[in-house]
Amino acid sequence: MKQSKVFIPTLREVPAEAEAVSHQLLLKAGLIKQNAAGIYSYLPLATRVLQNISEIIREEMEKIDAVEVVMPVLQQSELWKESGRWEAYGPELMRLKDRNEREFALGPTHEEVITSLVRDELRSYKQLPLTLFQIQTKFRDEKRPRFGLLRGREFIMKDAYSFHTDEASLMKTYQDMYDAYGRIFKRVGLNVRPVVADSGAIGGNHTHEFHALSAIGEDTIVYSNESDYAANIEKAEVPYIPSEVPKAPEATLEKIATPNVKTVKELASFLNKPLDEITKSMIFIVDGEFVLVLVRGHHEINDVKLKDFFKTDQVELADEHDIRNLLGATPGSLGPITDKSIKIYADNYIQDLSNLVVGANEDGYHYINANVGRDFQVEAYGDFRFILEGEPLSDGSGTAQFAEGIEVGQVFVLGTKYSETMDATVLNNQGREQTLTMGCYGIGVSRTLSAIIEQHHDENGVIWPKAVTPYDIHVISVNPKKDDQRELADALYSTLNKTYNVLYDDRQERAGVKFNDADLIGLPIRVVVGKNASDGIVEVKRRDNGEKEDIHIDDLASHITKLYEQIQ
Ligand code: ATP
Ligand code: MG
Repeated sequence: MKQSKVFIPTLREVPAEAEAVSHQLLLKAGLIKQNAAGIYSYLPLATRVLQNISEIIREEMEKIDAVEVVMPVLQQSELWKESGRWEAYGPELMRLKDRNEREFALGPTHEEVITSLVRDELRSYKQLPLTLFQIQTKFRDEKRPRFGLLRGREFIMKDAYSFHTDEASLMKTYQDMYDAYGRIFKRVGLNVRPVVADSGAIGGNHTHEFHALSAIGEDTIVYSNESDYAANIEKAEVPYIPSEVPKAPEATLEKIATPNVKTVKELASFLNKPLDEITKSMIFIVDGEFVLVLVRGHHEINDVKLKDFFKTDQVELADEHDIRNLLGATPGSLGPITDKSIKIYADNYIQDLSNLVVGANEDGYHYINANVGRDFQVEAYGDFRFILEGEPLSDGSGTAQFAEGIEVGQVFVLGTKYSETMDATVLNNQGREQTLTMGCYGIGVSRTLSAIIEQHHDENGVIWPKAVTPYDIHVISVNPKKDDQRELADALYSTLNKTYNVLYDDRQERAGVKFNDADLIGLPIRVVVGKNASDGIVEVKRRDNGEKEDIHIDDLASHITKLYEQIQ
């Protein structure tokens, strides 16, 4: 394609609003244009990359017998009311009404639509297992759309759903998907780690996320320095290994004045004690009931673990008003010693301490030497906190290392969550109605595009992995006004274009502009037709390592074949 005919509005300046490198480069290299917060047009280069990513996904889906469909974006509210998510999904769901005042949602995901489709059309276990997928625009009214395509309000997703009558078949498809995701991300050039994850609002009980390692990532991944253990920090278990240091004998409970002390840090320095010897008390509302959770001063409570422990989605931190009504103190002075009826749960590592420092439920006062059993009772101990870097891991392998990751995909075992509420059954091999079991599997296609740029760029621009690059070769005529240069460039373009996708910079621009743009756009190989054109010599440059060589046009084809094999 001649560059003079393509629409690539490159920019000289880094747009001020863009924090993430991928966002900056998507704008600078003329790949996307913002329309509104989190809503973008994909320009020609981005469109080609998205097509390449989608093609790789399609190939890998086909290998595992997943079949492509296209479902409606506009989804009637009745389906969402059936599943219970019309209320549960909250403000992220984009809702609208038609001219007859009927309510609809713009699909953020398609469990409801596909379950209703399968429920109405599938009759027999003989049609199973069935895996359907689509590649489509999704809508989520994200609270903080940001980082360009990494967190959009309108974005492209590949979503797949599988249906089964037995667990073994579901687990086989889950594993097939898991393996296919590994291949897809490798093929598009991403360094990705699959991690054990939380199932969140979609529900279900067994799930992995695929994270592209990157400093801009919004998730923290915990991995082992010795095994392939990896988990989202929300899920990373903290094994309880009791301290070998004997506990101090119980001393007398004492209430002390702690004026103006509001945080654990202030309390630690006021008492001149290390943070890990202080105890934090926090009040949560679990299924409508107040509970008090204790952790040590240097630990942070993880509400995903509370949800798992209490087996509910309904866990939230109580607000100051509720806390004052309940215990008569502000959040900085709370503690477990109270005559109010409130159940107390403690993180496992509280068991290593005696003589706890806790709030006295009276502003400006704390207790020292509080002891479990003597001064207050603990309902249960559990793993309620985030793991710290360097701590031992639950698989016994090594210690926790942290990395930041971008979630590019996720696979879920859904079980019967949707099929049961929406009554999706088939006749099993005994001729009886049986509820389907399901899996669902997503890839953020537009987010993957950004993640690729996060992992493949330098200070001058993008460096496309060849599997997804918008064009393979950039032919540049340095000065098209010179006949010999233009004629040779024209000829090379038409020859190379038979084997490769070639972008031909035929524009009447200064050489500097062309070279800058070429670096920004980042095609794997550049062929520069310049002052040696009359001798039949061109410069061939690799974008990844910058190596360049003068090559005679007679050797050009074989040279490029060789180079192209070497490039990732
Ligand atoms: P996140 O935790 O990042 O909000 P999610 O877990 O809610 O994502 P899923 O429901 O698992 O997302 O959606 C499948 C995939 O779609 C995700 O793995 C991610 O790659 C992509 N995705 C989700 N939300 C967005 C978004 N706002 N913009 C771009 N891609 C997204
Ligand atoms: Mg997810």
